[in-house]
Amino acid sequence: MKHYIIPFFLTFQGCPHRCIYCDQQAIAGEPTGEVASVMETFLKYHGSEEYSAEIAFFGGTFSLLPLKRQQELLESVVPYIEKGEVRGIRFSTRPDALDEKRLIWYKERFVTHIELGVQSFQKKFLDLLRRGYTPQTARSAVEMVKKSGIGVGIQLMLGFPGQDREMFFKDIDEIRRLKPEDCRLYPLSVISGTPLEKEYQNGGMNFISLETAVDWVADAVEVIEKEGIGIRRIGLPHSPELEEKIIAGLYHPSFADKVRFELLRRSFDKADIRSGQTLSVHPADLQYTYRIARIKKKQVNVVPDSSLRRSTIIIQQ
Ligand code: SF4
Repeated sequence: MKHYIIPFFLTFQGCPHRCIYCDQQAIAGEPTGEVASVMETFLKYHGSEEYSAEIAFFGGTFSLLPLKRQQELLESVVPYIEKGEVRGIRFSTRPDALDEKRLIWYKERFVTHIELGVQSFQKKFLDLLRRGYTPQTARSAVEMVKKSGIGVGIQLMLGFPGQDREMFFKDIDEIRRLKPEDCRLYPLSVISGTPLEKEYQNGGMNFISLETAVDWVADAVEVIEKEGIGIRRIGLPHSPELEEKIIAGLYHPSFADKVRFELLRRSFDKADIRSGQTLSVHPADLQYTYRIARIKKKQVNVVPDSSLRRSTIIIQQ
């Protein structure tokens, strides 16, 4: 059954300050309208399907919105939950914007998943981004959400100036240890008009290459998926408006595609595939497997198997 996450963009609402790298307008556009109108459109196109869905309040700091506004937003979803059209609510927030009492309140109001914009578990990178919390606050927030019974996701950045592979994998080790339900990995980009742009223009800020980023993230995805942790997204969502505003750092419209291709290429080489074989892969990996087989001039049949983990190739006997 297909699962939909229906996003509502709060576009900076609730944020205590603008983080130096962030431009939600460029990333997600203007705030989304009311829940009722978005649900009407969603049901028009998907209402007759077998599906499950969650409504997600993203692009701001949901848990720092005035309580009355949080209540209004959560309550606006309840009629759809009662009718079975939506199964729960997600939101994104900062690690320093939650407490145990509030988590109980969210759970009673159908919140099923909270995505924490952690960005890094290392002080020097949190300071660079001026996030305003410590690595321990980030770890405790993940543990606290897990303990509440609400699913937790971690947003993690990479490609900070001065970051090397070992430093990046320190953050990946934290993810392995904390075992969130899922995570999002995205490279740091410099968006014009943000305070980070000014720092970048002052000079001395170097970024890793796209090839290096693909290699690091492919290794990280292998490690994370082996732990049974989902990869919710790789890279920033692509939009021509965002692309136009990126002036430095790591950004590629097909970054996720490049990582998935690299992972399948590794599996293909490891399995020593020969022409005439039939391969089973996860349905989302079909396109990559066909592309790699074509490049390597192997005539193979590829069949989808949704029980397989991403990037796995099974040769049918
Ligand atoms: S990164 Fe998150 S907390 Fe910071 S300004 Fe952007 S949406 Fe708000």
